[in-house]
Amino acid sequence: MSISPQQLRDLAARAEALATEVRALCDSAPAAAAERDPLQAARHAAGWLDRGGEDLQRAAGDLARIRSLLERRCGIPWGVCPEHGNTLSYSVNVTTCRVCGRTWERDRRGQPCQERVTWKVTDRAGTVTTMCDGHVLGARATTQGATFTRLDAELSQP
Ligand SMILES: [Zn+2]
Ligand SMILES: [Zn+2]
Repeated sequence: MSISPQQLRDLAARAEALATEVRALCDSAPAAAAERDPLQAARHAAGWLDRGGEDLQRAAGDLARIRSLLERRCGIPWGVCPEHGNTLSYSVNVTTCRVCGRTWERDRRGQPCQERVTWKVTDRAGTVTTMCDGHVLGARATTQGATFTRLDAELSQP
């Protein structure tokens, strides 16, 4: 099981609630002059809790963004072999890869690609397309001057 953005948001909400509670407590009664320093330290801690909550919110947002990118489907309107690309033959309700012999029911070439997006392709004009491993093989063969970036490499950059 993986961490969900919501779990991080819940922790962020607790950090924020804790900060509010610390401030409310510090403000709840007049402090004697000699008690001022420890109460000042407690208010300072509330500030750290605020920042911790903000960092957790930011982390939750980043996690959600990366998740949705990793879970996106290729969607190119024809199917390919996930490993070999444009190598499919279709006959009698079965699609077969001519290289590895893997088979699929029905005409896979006639359906939008359901594989996960793993590549980002930037053409010379700067247009970005995302696609799966299988489709990137064809794109490499036919696209001149495009840049191919693996999404996991892209995502691991700061
Ligand atoms: Zn194949
Ligand atoms: Zn694809």
